[in-house]
Order: sequence, then C-alpha cells, then structure tokens
Amino acid sequence: MALDGPIRTQGLHRLRGSHAKKWFVHATEIEKVPMLGLMQQQSLLISSLIEFADRHHGDGEVVSRRVEGDVHRYSWSDVANRSRQVANALDTLKLILGDRVATLAWNGYRHLELYFGVSGSGRVLHTLNPRLHPDQVVWIANHAEDQVLCFDMSFLPLVQAVHARCTTVKHWVALCDADKLPTDTGIPNLFSYEALIGQHEARYTWPDLDENTASSMCYTSGTTGNPKAALYSHRSTLLHAYAAALPDVMCISARDAILPVVPMFHVNAWGIPYSAAMTGAKLVFPGPALDGKSVYDLIEAEKVTFAAGVPTVWQMLLSHMKPANLRFSSLKRTVIGGSACPPAMIDAFRDDYGVDVLHAWGMTEMSPLGTLCTLKNKHLNLPAEAQMKLRLKQGRSIFGVDIKIVNDAGEALPHDGKTYGDLLVKGPWIIREYFKQEGPAPLVDGWFPTGDVATIDEDGFMQITDRSKDVIKSGGEWISSIDIENIAMAHPDVAMAACVGMPHPKWDERPVVCVVKKPGSLVTAPDLLKFYEGKTAKWQIPDDVIFVEAIPLGATGKMLKTKLREQLAGYKLPGI
Ligand code: AMP
Repeated sequence: MALDGPIRTQGLHRLRGSHAKKWFVHATEIEKVPMLGLMQQQSLLISSLIEFADRHHGDGEVVSRRVEGDVHRYSWSDVANRSRQVANALDTLKLILGDRVATLAWNGYRHLELYFGVSGSGRVLHTLNPRLHPDQVVWIANHAEDQVLCFDMSFLPLVQAVHARCTTVKHWVALCDADKLPTDTGIPNLFSYEALIGQHEARYTWPDLDENTASSMCYTSGTTGNPKAALYSHRSTLLHAYAAALPDVMCISARDAILPVVPMFHVNAWGIPYSAAMTGAKLVFPGPALDGKSVYDLIEAEKVTFAAGVPTVWQMLLSHMKPANLRFSSLKRTVIGGSACPPAMIDAFRDDYGVDVLHAWGMTEMSPLGTLCTLKNKHLNLPAEAQMKLRLKQGRSIFGVDIKIVNDAGEALPHDGKTYGDLLVKGPWIIREYFKQEGPAPLVDGWFPTGDVATIDEDGFMQITDRSKDVIKSGGEWISSIDIENIAMAHPDVAMAACVGMPHPKWDERPVVCVVKKPGSLVTAPDLLKFYEGKTAKWQIPDDVIFVEAIPLGATGKMLKTKLREQLAGYKLPGI
C-alpha cells in the first residue's frame, strides 16, 4: 500500500492535464486511493529533539542545583553526548525495546539525560513519584514491570525499603559519582550512574522507530482502585512539545531561560524538557530545594524568564519575597496549574512584580496540557475587573485538544459561561486507554471523560467548577480520600469515615477525616491520627479528625461529600 499509493496517485495526476476525460472516468478510483503528498516520511521521535538541540543550540545552557548541594552547569551538546552514553549503557544491560526504566529523581541534568537516552533508544521512561508511600512505589514498579530503577541519593532510604519487593527490577542505578556510591546498602546489582555511563562512548545511532512507539509513562493516583498509567508515545510527546511552545501557550523560545519547578516525575514536568530541546531554551533545574528563598535565588542568579509550577510553590516564593521587599530582574511570565490558581496570586504576580500569570489546566492523561488562559485582542480593553474574571478561568483549548461539556445523558451543553457539565476531551496527546487497562476503555464516543465539571463561555474559555472525583490536592500532589477513609475504617472504634479536602493557605488543600464512632467508643482524635502513622506517607495523614453523628448519604447509599462540605462551612483547619 505504501508503495502503491503514490505511484497510482502520480499516474492520475499526469492524466489530469492531457486526458481530462480519463480523469473523470477514474473518479471512483480516486475516492478509494487518496492522492498522497510528496513530502519526506520521517517519524516524530524524541531522539530528533536532542539531536536538534545538539546541532543548533549546542552551546545553550542547562543549569542544575544538585542533590549534592552545588550548582552544575553544562550545555545542550553535553546533554546529547551523555544521553547517547545512557543509550549505549542500556544496550549493554541487554534491555530490549519497550523495557521500562524507572526514575526516582528530582529535576536535574541526569534526569534530563535519561529522558532522552531511555526514550530515544526505544525504552520507556517511567517517572515514579518519590512522594508516594513505599507500598505504593512497590505496587507501581511491579505493575509497570520496571527493569532498571535510577534514583537520586536522597531516595536511597526509600530504595532500601522497597528494593526486595520490586520483583522485576534487575539493576539499580544511583545517580551519583562512582566515589559517592556507598558500599553497604544491601541493594544487589547497584551501579553508580557515572560509572555506568562513563564506560561508554558518546556516539550512538538512534533507532528509527515507529512514531507510535511508547516513550514514557506516568501513573496517576486513581480515585477508585489502583493507580493507572498513561503511556505516552514519541508522536504524542512531539506534538505536545510543539503545541506547548506556541505563543498563546507557554511561548517558549531560544531567548528563554526556563525554570520548571513542576517535578519531572509529574507528567514529564508538563513537557517542558521536550519543548526546551525543540527551541534551544536554557533550562534551569531546582533539584530538591523548592523553598521560597532557594527558588528566588535561582531565578535571579540564572536570569530565569519563565517558570512553571503549582500554586503551593509560588505561595512559598511570594511569602519569601514580600517581607524582604525583593523584586524580579528577569522573570516575565509563569504558568500556574495543577490546581486552581487563587486570585490573590495572579494579582500579586502582575501588580506587585510585573509577571504575567498563565493559568493552565490539564491532567496526566493529557500529557498534560489541555487549556491555557491567554486573553484575545478584544479582551484587552475590558475593565480590569472583567479581565481578572477571565484570567481566573482555566483558559482556552490549545490546538490539538477538543473540549466539550455534556449532561448526564451525554448531550452537549451550551458554551454560555454559566451551564456546567462533565468535561470531555479529545486529541492526539490524550490517552485512548490506560496501560494494562482492566475493564472497558475509558472513552465515551471517542472522548475522554476528565472527571472535572466545568463551564465554557462564548469565547471558549473553560472554567473548572468542581471535581467529580474527590481526591485532595495538597502541594500539587494527590491524596486519595478513599485511602484515608480506608485506614480510618480499619480502626476498631470507627463505624464510618469520610475524608474531604479543606482549604489551606500554603498547601491549597489538606485532608480532614469525619468519623462516626462505634457506640460506646472513647477513641480520641490524637488516637486516630496516631493510627495513621506508618500506614500512609506522613504528608497524607489528615490534619484533623472531626467526630460527627452521621455522614450524609445519597439515594444509592454513597457518601454525599458535597453535603458534607456544606456542613463543614466555616470550619478552619488547626493552626490556620
Ligand atoms: P494530574 O493528573 O495530577 O495532573 O491532575 C489533573 C487534575 O488536576 C484535573 O483533572 C483537575 O481536577 C486538576 N487541575 C489541574 N489543573 C487545574 C487548574 N488550573 N484548576 C483547577 N483544577 C486543576
């Protein structure tokens, strides 16, 4: 077919001029065989990004604050060379195409090399979230069938706690120099990253893969059941990288110095590493130091023009800057997403510091970008208050992402800015199904149901009004309300438990658990909070236990969390 198509089409093309009648006679044939364009066929591959960055922006800088505490500085050519060394090393470890290479790592240059070396050579980069409870890390690594796990030294205790239970991992790689590798870890087949890649040359012939080959994966904490993985492809990643760099999206160019504070283990740092390689932008990685002072100092020292992160991180930054009366000398814009951006934050960035806030929405299943809030020309003359109303919305859809809202019957709802419904999305970087999908695929008539509830206005600006799911967003990370409830319910004195998120000025939301005691029980809130210790990650333990007479239930016996939240109106978290 591939050969047949162009030959026949060219034949028909020649007929067109000299034998118009014949052309007409062959019309039905044309319907069957479309005329193909005469452009080169080249797969969209992640390896082409790093080759491009090397060739055209080889001296562009990549700067990382390291786990070791110092600042590391090198160029896009160095990234390319060391990515090729990574690919060679994976070949010698006998990893086959599609094998998963996991990371437990902060944002830094070695993690970036793995992005290109692992995916470019046809393996799948699996970015594990180190903030998860060790049991969750084990479950996810086993489900993904990771073969290699690379980790920053700060996660050595976590790896020591989980390695014996990660049954598919054959090689453990500490992201450190050979002389920093401890000898008494108890972890078998442990290498230092530098020793591993150091033995290999910086020349590599990247495989010419089908562009639909899997390139990376990221698990999302499901609201029900186990975590689920989005499995991205080279094609979806490249299309997303193009779109993310567009002027009305993140507007990334060779003149930018980008600070992705959003973790590389959370949906590929919103795709920024790929868009940066595509444009030759300077990259600045914060490593583990995400406090306000460290982030501010890095922005100033490296003349960062564009930064990306969740509201919690920006809250810490602003809290550091305000009392010390600090200013930005280079930062022009910041993209804020992951949870709703508070109006006061948009105001502070714009009015006090002259920084444009781009409010963005997306999800793991969407690579992640779906919408971004940039105004159109006609909005620029609106009064400040009306502009602010628009800026608070999650924004317009990006080319490549179709959005619609529907009612319970699946019927499309009007775009009037008032009617709200379930938000559905469609496009080439949105999942078709989850990795090892159990049960039916999630799509509804080809659309992916996001689980969010939203309005869309006449100009296409979307606003999330609620989540149909009840997970709690704390500091940009998920806490599953069901997990928290299940632990409480395991206590012998608890009859029923319901967990909801309560607003928190620093973390956006913190969980509280409402508990109905068993008759005669004398259990106290401190008893229950103690009960959580060791059963979930520390930061997932609820901030408070509220004893209630009953949990409101709906007609089908399900907990009515909306009602519960109404009952908690006026409640304040301890210490707020
Ligand atoms: P994740 O898959 O962890 O990236 O989370 C995706 C979910 O986060 C979405 O389905 C939304 O519920 C929520 N979310 C992401 N961005 C925003 C935003 N700007 N405003 C409100 N909610 C958001």
